[in-house]
Amino acid sequence: MQKEVDYIVVGLGLAGLAFVEELQAHKKTFMVFEDDSQTSSLVAGGVYNPVILKRFTPVWNAHEQLKMALPFYKSIEEKLNIIIDEKFIIKKAFKSIEDQNTWFEACDKPKLIEYLNPKLDTQSYHGVIADFSFGDVNGTGRIDTKELVESYRSHLEDNQLIRFENFEHQQVNLDEELVQYKDIKASRIVFCEGFGIKENPYFKNLPLNEAKGELITIHAPELNIDFLLKSTVFVLPLGDNLYKVGATFNWTDKTSDPSEEGKEELVEKLKKVINVPYTIVSQSAGIRPTVAGRRPLVGVHPKHPQLAVLNGLGTRGVMIAPTVAKNLFNHLEKGEALDSEIDIKRFVAVNK
Ligand SMILES: Cc1cc2nc3c(=O)[nH]c(=O)nc-3n(C[C@H](O)[C@H](O)[C@H](O)COP(=O)(O)OP(=O)(O)OC[C@H]3O[C@@H](n4cnc5c(N)ncnc54)[C@H](O)[C@@H]3O)c2cc1C
Repeated sequence: MQKEVDYIVVGLGLAGLAFVEELQAHKKTFMVFEDDSQTSSLVAGGVYNPVILKRFTPVWNAHEQLKMALPFYKSIEEKLNIIIDEKFIIKKAFKSIEDQNTWFEACDKPKLIEYLNPKLDTQSYHGVIADFSFGDVNGTGRIDTKELVESYRSHLEDNQLIRFENFEHQQVNLDEELVQYKDIKASRIVFCEGFGIKENPYFKNLPLNEAKGELITIHAPELNIDFLLKSTVFVLPLGDNLYKVGATFNWTDKTSDPSEEGKEELVEKLKKVINVPYTIVSQSAGIRPTVAGRRPLVGVHPKHPQLAVLNGLGTRGVMIAPTVAKNLFNHLEKGEALDSEIDIKRFVAVNK
């Protein structure tokens, strides 16, 4: 039987989820397709942190993004009756005196003043290797993205709003205004496919790069920290003496499979971070959809205005997704301008 909806959404990771929230808020009808080909949103550390801790500089638009993201996740917690937002401090382990001095300078920057604590933490923590002191970042935490995405998918499934199958781009028929896909007629398709965009004939030429990331979860009964430790790698407390450790960056491997190489890299780096025994409980991997210049890929196909893309969330999907999804929705439905920094129009050779 023929079905008519306002939107087809392809992919239910953080990008698709944020866009679907907009659709639901505005009572639009839709159908989601999800084929489990990408894992980024399921394996992500889920950390939100407005500060780039390599250079002590603010993340692009972080303050504004956080102001939208935290209430966004709160409202999903209430709607789905889940708890996904865990707030904690991030402790940056300094590597040198220069590092500490750069921190002090950064503390005075207007965009960072709210987040960086100028009082250094000189305490020692059992099991944590630290030659210098720590700097505390406030206003940070973690969204349990696995719980979020899985619960959200179940919620859509209960309401028959998601099909767990591969979206076949070659089955798309475009006429002047509408889109026909198999038994569904829609006004628009929004592609939120993460690295799956490489299979999408309409948007595959956008400059999205793969940045495979791997994490291990360890059981370390002697480590007793309730903050995220940021050193050579991050160590993120999950409770019950479990910690997520990550993450690697691999720019050539296009698979989402955990690798021996990834594990060894993390184990090697962890030797410089903690000195208590642990066992590895699990390992996971995914491909971050990244863009040179670190701005998302959002916008409408130049020849087919019924087709839009929401991608390129990079290493910070948790913070960015709600803002860019809203901007895209308002652009499509209300003619609001897209932020020129994220608009795919900035690339000349985009799509056919
Ligand atoms: C190891 C690791 C750690 C990370 N840590 C953090 C962190 O701490 N904080 C943070 O903010 N971000 C983190 N990220 C980045 C974050 O995961 C991404 O920014 C975000 O998940 C991207 O979301 P997305 O929805 O665009 O893509 P994805 O999560 O890849 O979702 C795309 C979805 O589309 C589906 N799909 C694709 N093609 C099709 C098709 N043809 N038909 C049907 N379905 C399709 C896929 O199965 C997938 O579910 C991390 C990533 C990795 C890999």
